[in-house]
This record gives sequence, C-alpha cells and structure tokens, in this order.
Amino acid sequence: MADPVYHRILLKPSGEMLMGSRGYGLDPEAIGIMADEVADIHKMGVEIGMVIGGGNIFRGFKASAAGMDRVTADHIGMLATVINALAFQDALERKGIHTRVQTAITMNKIAEPFIRRRAVRHLEKGRVVIFAGGTGNPYFTTDTAASLRAAEIKAEVVLKGTKVDGIYDKDPIEFSDAKKFDEISYLGVVDRGLGVIDSTAVTLCMEHQIPIRVFNFNIRGNLKRILHGEQIGTLISTEAA
Ligand code: UDP
Repeated sequence: MADPVYHRILLKPSGEMLMGSRGYGLDPEAIGIMADEVADIHKMGVEIGMVIGGGNIFRGFKASAAGMDRVTADHIGMLATVINALAFQDALERKGIHTRVQTAITMNKIAEPFIRRRAVRHLEKGRVVIFAGGTGNPYFTTDTAASLRAAEIKAEVVLKGTKVDGIYDKDPIEFSDAKKFDEISYLGVVDRGLGVIDSTAVTLCMEHQIPIRVFNFNIRGNLKRILHGEQIGTLISTEAA
C-alpha cells in the first residue's frame, strides 16, 4: 500500500455531517459511515486529530440573532460540540479504534482536558484525538478551533469535510453557473469573502503555513483518496493563485 501523503492530519467535519438527512441532531447511520471513513485512513497509519462542529445541534450566532445573549449562546454551541465528540468517539470505539476526547472547557468526568503534549502522545500511540468544546471561547467557530489545534499538534493539513464539493465563487445551490476552485490562496478566500470557511481560521493557517483542503465528506472514499494524493475538493494554500 502506498504511503499516505500526510502523516498527521486535523480532520474537521461540520456538525451537519452527523445529522445525515435529518434536520437536526444525531443520525447513528451517518455517524457510522463517517467512522468507517476515518477507520479506513487510520488503517493507513495516519495520525488523526479531529474537531467536530456543532451546527447540527446549536449555532451561537443564530440564537443570538433571535435575541439570546451571544456569550451564553456560544457556550451552548460549544457544549453541542462535546455531544458530537462523544457520539463520534463511541462510533469509532465500536470499530475497535482507540480514541480520546479532550475538551477546551474542563469536564473531567466525561473527557480529558485539552493538554497539547498529552494529545500529541495519544496521536503517536495511534489514538484518534477528538478536540471538543471549540477553542473554549465565545465569538469563535469550530473552523478556527480546527486551525488552532492543527497548529498546536503540528498537523500537516486541515481537512474540512462538508456537504459540498469544495469552494465555489458563489453558492452552487443557488447559482447553476457557480465555478469551483481547485486551488485558491488564503488571501483569495478572505478577499472574496467566501463563506464556506471562516476568515479567522484561514488566516491562522496562513500564518502557520498549514494548507486546508475543503472536500465533500458525503462521498465515500474521498477522505482515503485525499490521503492517497488525489486532488479532491479545493486546496487553500499560499501557492495557489
Ligand atoms: N463555538 C464557540 N467557540 C468556539 C467554537 C464554537 O463559541 O471556539 C460555538 C458557536 O456558537 C458555534 C457553535 O459553537 O456556532 C458550533 O460550532 P460551528 O458553528 O463552528 O459548527 P459547524 O458549523 O462546524 O457545525
């Protein structure tokens, strides 16, 4: 089997991936399929850190737009990511993969606190580490938590798994002539205000020279193909135009 092109990754599925075709919450079948995808690359010997979003349960800015205090709403959003992390941990462990959940907000009855050195040690031992609770701060997103953890654990890439095929110049659902980028620069994403990933996450990766690949995680085998070097989705990096 060919060597994977990355040895340590930060995988960032959006919370919506965990709800499958439901409008809300957790779909065990969808989670099981995602866990199979992760198991496939784990077999290749890839060290896997994960940040899972919380949008299938709660988004702080939406609740605050409806009147809730923003900080409280973001606290609830961060807790939603812990629910997702525990559900995904369970799915992976049922496939025989050792995992650890580390939270940015201490809740030591159910998970370890985030300790960078310990996280790296887990990765070296082949455990999948799921970083939950976002950055631990309101006004951030899990995209930014993914960039932050990627920099801390020295991941070679952030793989952002979504329901779309990559980054488009406009919303592909709304506009049939939307054009997909195979590659785009960090500043290209920020300057064009492309909403698929938040700009804080992009600039943090830019400063640390961590490429980001946005790909469709609903297509089975895509994650493995990326680890085999296939150019799937959109690559955000410095080199791109
Ligand atoms: N959140 C936060 N700080 C963080 C990360 C997340 O306050 O560092 C909250 C925020 O309210 C956000 C929610 O958690 O809306 C869920 O995360 P996100 O919207 O990024 O999830 P995704 O869109 O990836 O499912």
